[in-house]
Amino acid sequence: MRLAVLKERRAAETRVAATPDTVKKLIALGLTVAVEAGAGASASMSDAEFAAAGAEIAPDAKAVLAGANVVFAVQMPEAEQRALIPRGALLVCVAGAFGDKDLVPSLAAAGIDVAAMELLPRITRAQSMDVLSSQANLAGYRAVVESATAFQRGFPMMMTAAGTVPPARLFVIGAGVAGLQAIATARRLGAIVSATDVRPAAKEEIKSLGASFVGVEDEETAKQTGAYAREMTDAFRQKQAELMATTVAKNDIVICTALVMGRKAPVIVTKAMVESMKAGSVIVDLASDAGGNCESTVPGQCITTPNGVTILGFNNWPGRISVASSSLYARNLLTFLTTFWDKEQKAPKLPETDDIVKGVMLTRGGSVVHPNFLPSQA
Ligand code: NAD
Repeated sequence: MRLAVLKERRAAETRVAATPDTVKKLIALGLTVAVEAGAGASASMSDAEFAAAGAEIAPDAKAVLAGANVVFAVQMPEAEQRALIPRGALLVCVAGAFGDKDLVPSLAAAGIDVAAMELLPRITRAQSMDVLSSQANLAGYRAVVESATAFQRGFPMMMTAAGTVPPARLFVIGAGVAGLQAIATARRLGAIVSATDVRPAAKEEIKSLGASFVGVEDEETAKQTGAYAREMTDAFRQKQAELMATTVAKNDIVICTALVMGRKAPVIVTKAMVESMKAGSVIVDLASDAGGNCESTVPGQCITTPNGVTILGFNNWPGRISVASSSLYARNLLTFLTTFWDKEQKAPKLPETDDIVKGVMLTRGGSVVHPNFLPSQA
């Protein structure tokens, strides 16, 4: 069995789907591992380190994918890379299938079995393979650190002989994995932190981290019982907008992390709210890949508005901390493959009845198998 590790081609992608450490463990499973040259370069992992771990270094996509049975990638490979994946291979990556209705049928037609790691069910058994959590946690940390760098005042209150610097006020929108880590990081740096979410369960989590909760609590939020938030109604959005208008204006830093699985990110911070902020304020939009939570965000860019608000709208926040995010992502994929590995056959074994397998598999044996992507759902 040959496992190929691809060099990522997508813009702003700095991560890699295996590390020298996971390569050793994959080889111990009985796999031959091939790594595309330069795959780890932007995550500070050299070809020499991969080779020392036992990997074959292949010069290009064609060479690394020749004869591959399993392919590890961070994002869905580009069309020209996909064309080189052998029929029957298992591709494990973040598939990003919601935005492209032709993608899943084309993968089925190419005979590639795809495990879409972002569709992993949020169950205890799957936690160690949960790429969304491992990456969001680091993104939340990174967002606060970058906001602190862009903010020209400082987070903690500093009482000095020369005078007092007041503490920063930081507001987190969306208290999932990224938002909770943002709260914890901002608190450690000494900011006064508040946060909002639409899931009632988030309120206690926000408070347990020492932040105050600011949010609309009504019959609609009471219905949010799943792990993922649902899209909210216009009536809720109106109530939330009124509360956000006063809250955003009072804060120096706003960290946006609100996402709705498979949908465009909700716009929560309007242009008018940005205009109400003081000069020198900072907004970090972690939702920029999904369009952004802030109306003024320019996805992929850092901008300063005419009233002096800096908006960090970079794409791919986990990629901005590439060594740690690659390391955790690679561990997630290793755990996935190890969990579904037939030790005797030395091959993947993905039982169709397993909840994790049912959750992640988009295509199998030339057919679309995921309920959300069946031809009748298109
Ligand atoms: P996410 O990235 O999908 O969304 C981020 C946050 O934005 C969520 O908390 C969501 O409720 C919030 N949000 C969405 N729309 C909003 C709006 N209009 N206004 C304000 N907030 C809004 O979420 P996530 O980080 O992937 O985590 C979702 C939940 O799943 C969390 O409770 C997390 O603890 C849980 N989780 C459970 C497991 C597990 O049990 N194994 C693993 C990971 C995450």
